[in-house]
Amino acid sequence: MYAPERDACDSCGAFKSCLRRFFSMYAIYVDESGNPDIKDYTSKHYIVAGVSTPLKSWKAKDKAIRDSLTKNRLDGIELHTAWMARIFPEQQRIPNFIALNDEDRRKSVLIERKKDIAKASIISDRAIRSLRNNYKKTKDYIHLTHAERVNILQEIADIVASWGDVKLFAEAQQKASLDPDKPDKYRSIALEQVTTRFNTYLENACPFEAMGILVHDQNQANSLQLTGQFREWHKLGTKFARLSRIAETPLFVDSSLTTMVQVADLISYAVRRFFDVNETNLFDRIYSKFDRKPNGVLVGLRHYTGKVNCKCRVCVDHNR
Ligand SMILES: [Zn+2]
Repeated sequence: MYAPERDACDSCGAFKSCLRRFFSMYAIYVDESGNPDIKDYTSKHYIVAGVSTPLKSWKAKDKAIRDSLTKNRLDGIELHTAWMARIFPEQQRIPNFIALNDEDRRKSVLIERKKDIAKASIISDRAIRSLRNNYKKTKDYIHLTHAERVNILQEIADIVASWGDVKLFAEAQQKASLDPDKPDKYRSIALEQVTTRFNTYLENACPFEAMGILVHDQNQANSLQLTGQFREWHKLGTKFARLSRIAETPLFVDSSLTTMVQVADLISYAVRRFFDVNETNLFDRIYSKFDRKPNGVLVGLRHYTGKVNCKCRVCVDHNR
């Protein structure tokens, strides 16, 4: 008769405790903020961030984020931090915007946006395209004031901070320290850092046959290049370690449908704003979740500044 609970685990010889191995799958959801092209002046740093979670608690986390969005009048809407955090000047031109209901807020903003498109048509086609893109990306949030949107982002950062089994990983590259001709190289280096740290975390903190997979936003990465890079790391190891705990090449998903990639988007945004403009509102809420050694040294977040000596609190905590 088949009695799995009486079979000893191959690794540890335990009986019932070996069932734990069935719960030892982890995923790290990865997204980036900014880009490594130093000719792009919209950001001073390029960030790749990952949110690691045991898959056994994925469903509860997915629900917590969706419930928060629904409660905050964003039912079924993507959490896209950079667009939500923007100030919408149209809202500021509408008298007593805050007193309107959601439907009237939307109508009023759309009227203002039409006026702005008309003004842009006098300037150039490029100005129109830029405005239209902006409006498309933000259309789901125009019924919320800036304060309401910031409150939602803070609430979600607090939810992430409350998850005891989550660890964060990120690489922040100061663009002034990068070679301008090799943006793809730095994308690869950043992913290598996050992947290696995640692998080490699985080896050290989750020793019981824990294995991990990467889930990556498909919109912001050269999936073919990163897949090829991953195959090489599986064969030869990264510059820092053998990938003993990582399975497969990254799974590329549509971030608009994947809540935890949207959470990674919030983390990467918070990290970039901290390094770019010393904005701590979101960063301070999640900083404690970055992986550390038992002696307290920060290893889950690296600030790369090349040969430039940096004394920011991340570099101090990292013992750079
Ligand atoms: Zn630093």
